[in-house]
Amino acid sequence: MVIAEISRRNLFLASSAIAGGLTMQQIMIETAEAATPQSDIKSPGFKRFKFGDFEITTFLDGLRPGDGPYPTFGANQSQEKMGELMRANFLPETKFVNGFTPILVNTGSELVLFDTGFGADGRQNGFGQLEANMKAAGYTPDEVNVVVITHMHGDHINGLINGGAPAFPAARYVAGEIEYDYWTDPARTGTPAENGAKAVSTKVKPLAEKTTFIKAGDAVVPGITSEAAYGHTPGHLIFHVESAGKHLVITADTANHYVASLQRPDWEVAYDTDKAMGAATRKKVFDMIAADRLPFIGYHMPFPSVGFVEKQETGYRFVPVTYQFDV
Ligand SMILES: [Zn+2]
Repeated sequence: MVIAEISRRNLFLASSAIAGGLTMQQIMIETAEAATPQSDIKSPGFKRFKFGDFEITTFLDGLRPGDGPYPTFGANQSQEKMGELMRANFLPETKFVNGFTPILVNTGSELVLFDTGFGADGRQNGFGQLEANMKAAGYTPDEVNVVVITHMHGDHINGLINGGAPAFPAARYVAGEIEYDYWTDPARTGTPAENGAKAVSTKVKPLAEKTTFIKAGDAVVPGITSEAAYGHTPGHLIFHVESAGKHLVITADTANHYVASLQRPDWEVAYDTDKAMGAATRKKVFDMIAADRLPFIGYHMPFPSVGFVEKQETGYRFVPVTYQFDV
């Protein structure tokens, strides 16, 4: 607070106040307190870093606070054990905030988006912020060349189509063949997967003609290759991103809680279609990431959702990226 900022009205009030017996210092303190209201403007929703010849940006599509992590995580354990693990990691025992992180890789010749968030349908609940955060980061949705779908849960596919129109109108699409076949199989009718199948029929099916359905191991564009990570869903894919000697892994939903699923990979996750396979895949993928000391980006890791893991006696310790890519 400097005197120059005191408005003419305040000067008038100040002279009256001095006349009323207040010193200039007292007036300035009062003005300063009134001049700085608290702000609920949200933190910036993107993080960008150089990676070899690529540039990678992660976006926060939204945050979902709720109850948990037990029993969504750890249903094959006791609530007490989960409480203990959360306490040891300075997290609340019965509350959990989930985040959603689409990723944009600028290869220098193409913009490749991984997953789409909740889209316009989610905005009334505070989700669907990918588009706004892309714009804040200097991109528009019509610049996206390729949209890759790691798997077909709603938080990954709902942003494909907004109000009947493709959200990324110039893009071609890449998705797993096994995943698409699973969700479009009429056998899903009348099962717990029925709602998921309906979402695929409204959000993915209309784009099928512009979609390349890949097998695990296939490349998306030069430098980006898929790998099978089945269990979370029957056709769940992860992606290796390699450029100029650098290598990271987009792990999608292989682990969905940075403590419950990484420190205790065997603890069941309600979202996993095949819980035993989900756990086996978690250990296989994060053993590889830990052994090779690779950075990874996880869709539900704490934003900006980029980190490393250190293998421990049981599971892995999540180490968030700080300045590693800035030096
Ligand atoms: Zn997810």
